[in-house]
Amino acid sequence: MASRVETNIGRQQFRKSLLAWYDLHRRDLPWRTSRDPYRVWLSEIMLQQTRVAAVIEHYHEFLRRFPTIEKLASAREPSVLAAWSGLGYYRRARMLHAAAKVVVREHGGKFPSSAEQLRALPGIGRYTSSAIASIAFDESVPVVDGNVERVLQRVAGKRLSEEQLWQAAGRFLDHSRPGDFNQAMMELGAIVCTPRAPQCLTCPVVAQCATRGELAATNRPASQKKREIHYVLDCRDGKVLLVRRPLDASLMAGMWELPEVSVIPGNHNPSFTLRHSITVTDYAVKVFRAAVPPECRGKWIPEDRLRRVALTGLARKILRKAGVLPPTLKISHER
Ligand code: SF4
Repeated sequence: MASRVETNIGRQQFRKSLLAWYDLHRRDLPWRTSRDPYRVWLSEIMLQQTRVAAVIEHYHEFLRRFPTIEKLASAREPSVLAAWSGLGYYRRARMLHAAAKVVVREHGGKFPSSAEQLRALPGIGRYTSSAIASIAFDESVPVVDGNVERVLQRVAGKRLSEEQLWQAAGRFLDHSRPGDFNQAMMELGAIVCTPRAPQCLTCPVVAQCATRGELAATNRPASQKKREIHYVLDCRDGKVLLVRRPLDASLMAGMWELPEVSVIPGNHNPSFTLRHSITVTDYAVKVFRAAVPPECRGKWIPEDRLRRVALTGLARKILRKAGVLPPTLKISHER
């Protein structure tokens, strides 16, 4: 780290300023009202690669369906996936379900309380184990996610390797309030030290920051591939035709989506288009309101049951844009 903050006094000032700011300015998010490890764990898994607004929408509903870890452990996988539908990255839901079973079977339904023990559970890595242990159990362990990484690198004024980031996060950690400190770092990255145009004038740690702005960009090659795909949206009598992805598909196995077609139906222009990115591919998605081709094998799902169906993220996006599902909430920052 840059010498500007690599003194005990500098780090103490950093902690004090950051926590004072967090106490005053943190967002009122539903999972912050409880230190119950089940709720902390659920929110941390949901927040991985998903916008806060989408998580808020699903968090309450998921807890309504599975209010305890025992309920989750005894649920059938399709019910868990349906409750997860719209959050994407369904492997997280499967791992969550698997971990719930382990906690109930091997720990009597009580969460292990240290990061090291938590890491032995399915789907819980270095970040998540430290987040749960610090927030729910006050263990003095740091976290590094995308937001913390950005803050630390800007404060340091240089790019840091993964191990350097974890070491720096550990040096800055406030041992008297580790859970709050970790959340404060993530909150700072989410709403002040944002990827573009950070708000340095209102930043609580501006005095300790070596960059005070965006770090110079690296020369990373653009590696996203581009692809165009076509879907048919066929709605009749309050039902929509969906197809199920193969159970052995490598992505989103068993989830429901609109029928994809390689030939554009009739001479139609698309009803609408949208963009969607999955891992390294950017899709231009064209949606045609038309009758599905006769060879298409699918299922007519009543529109009022769609919320309980395990839809792919893209299917949900299309159905929202088409007005078949209600629109989602909007929020401007990610965490
Ligand atoms: Fe980020 Fe600006 Fe604060 Fe530095 S001063 S941590 S760049 S918001």
